[in-house]
This record gives sequence, C-alpha cells and structure tokens, in this order.
Amino acid sequence: MIIHISQNSSENQIDEITQFVESMGLNVHRSNGSNRIILGLTGDVSKIDINTLKKYNIVEDVYRITAPYKKANREFHEADSVIDIGDGVKVGGDHFLMCAGPCSVENETDTIELAKQLKDAGANSLRGGAFKPRTSPYSFQGLGVEGLRILNEAKKETGLPIVSELMGTDHLDTFVDMVDVIQIGARNMQNFDLLKAVGQTDKPVLLKRGMSATIEEWLMSAEYILAGGNKNVIFCERGIRTFEDATRNTLDIQAVPVVQKESHLPIVIDPSHAAGIRYVIPSMAKSAVMSGANGLQIEVHQNPEKAWSDGQQSLTPEEFKNLMETIKILLKIEGKTL
Ligand code: PEP
Ligand code: MN
Repeated sequence: MIIHISQNSSENQIDEITQFVESMGLNVHRSNGSNRIILGLTGDVSKIDINTLKKYNIVEDVYRITAPYKKANREFHEADSVIDIGDGVKVGGDHFLMCAGPCSVENETDTIELAKQLKDAGANSLRGGAFKPRTSPYSFQGLGVEGLRILNEAKKETGLPIVSELMGTDHLDTFVDMVDVIQIGARNMQNFDLLKAVGQTDKPVLLKRGMSATIEEWLMSAEYILAGGNKNVIFCERGIRTFEDATRNTLDIQAVPVVQKESHLPIVIDPSHAAGIRYVIPSMAKSAVMSGANGLQIEVHQNPEKAWSDGQQSLTPEEFKNLMETIKILLKIEGKTL
C-alpha cells in the first residue's frame, strides 16, 4: 500500500501517521519524492482501511499496489535509485556503469594488464569470474578465492571496483570482504536462499535475469534481496532463450524501458552473454546505451582464442577501446556520465 503525503507536512504529522500504521503491525518505508513524500507499507495491509488513512489532513492519496513486487516498485520510490558501488563509481540516474573484464580470471599478470587497458579505454569497473557456473562439470570451474585475490591486485593497480559472481552461500563472507558488487548469475536468479543471504548484507548486487525468467519473476527475485534490507540491487539483462538459434540468446532490449517504468532500480545490459558471438556485441552495446540502460557489462580478453571460457564472445582490448569511443559520444546524447 502507498500513502502520498503532501510536501509541506510537518515531521510530527508524519510521525503520527507512521506510528498509527506501525501499531497495526505493518512496516513503513519512507521516500522523499520531488512533489510529495511517499510512505510505502509492507506486511498484511488487508488489515488497513483506506478511509481511516484518508482522514489524516496530510494524506493526499492512498492506494494498494497490485503488482506482487513492492519495494522494487517505482510506486514505492519515485526517483531513480543511485547505487554507490565504491571508489567513486555510481550506477543509476545519470550515472553509467561500464563494467568490463574477462569471463574467468586466469592469472595475475594478464588480469592486471587487462584492467589497466580497460581503465584507459573508459571502463569504471572490472568484472572477472572466480567461481564459474559451467554447463559441464569437466569445464574450467574458476580459480576460486585465488581469482578474487587476483582481482584485488588489479584493483590496487587501477582503482577499479570489482564485480564477481557468487554461486553459493558458503562463500558469502569472503565475497563481502573481497568484492564491490556481488553478481548473481542467470542460473541462480531464483536461488531463493542465495537471494535471502545477499539480502542480509549491504553489498551492491548485480542480479542477472534468468534465461527463461519473465520480467515479473526477475523483479520478484530483486524483491527477495530488498525484503532482507539490502537496497542496492542492479538488474542485468543478459539475453533470454527463444526459438532463435543464430545467436546464443536473444537480447531483450525492451526490458530496459519496462524495468525502468516498473522499478526505480538501475538496469544494465550484458550483450556478451546475450549474443554469444563477438561481432554482434558492439551493435548491441550501442543500442543498449540508446535504450536508456544504466550500464553495460562486456567480456574482454587479451587473446580470446586462448580464453578458458567464453572466448567466442570476448572482445579484444583494441575492439573494446574502439567501441568505447562511440559509447562516450552516445552517453553524451543520453545525458549520462561514466
Ligand atoms: C558470466 O557473467 O560470466 C555469466 C556466467 O553470466 P550469466 O549468468 O549471465 O550466464
Ligand atoms: Mn562468461
């Protein structure tokens, strides 16, 4: 349920209504919008009579949110959420996240060298898989904690905050200590225990869309994280499965305006896992910027042919640099900054 409170109400008046609602066993979440104050109510709102709330002078309107996601809903929070991932990098609103790096971290020398090249080209965060969700148990599974250590060495050299995927709750504390953004992969989008666990932290979470998930299911997964108290959720569209098999997945670019209408949380695009083929990526990355997305995540490898995972969809540092030249121009048109 949402209560719109008029802008010029006193704190005492707002406290009065808040206490009344809390006395009914509900939780109140306040957000100060540009034209009004919004009180979002969670809990068993069926107990509340809308007319009782409308008797308060400061109440402009009261209505029930019909969508099953509440805290992720823009009705709950009018303005775009801006998430601070540390080291001066923000995502949301006018702030664009440009995250790039290898699919898997392979060794320290290459990771540091690549991170420097990415930073010079304009990236503002470094991705790298240390725990890899591979389709085959016989494929490279990632360097584990050693991969996170290497990413931290690259961060020391470049200042780039780190994004890496957490696959299970057993490594949660290590990730809280060693990464700036916890990535929840497509295959774990509905791993509810994992979502609840990251919801108990305040680390930014990059929540990838499940390959067969609807937008509503994806928003509900974000709701799990928000319900735990963690407000720092970033959506990542990475392609969904369709009948089309010319590319690895189909990039649902329409998810950008839809998610932005429904939610105040930022959404970034990963054209690498969507396309699965290198030549498609620059075109989709540029489209993503013009769609109004709040960021990009792109796989880059010094020598894609030798990459231990996803080489076929990794750009070379040179290709990434060239792409960034255009992206910087497009970001100006969109009024966004890196
Ligand atoms: C990845 O980012 O390397 C990855 C495995 O992504 P996704 O979960 O989108 O497949
Ligand atoms: Mn990958």
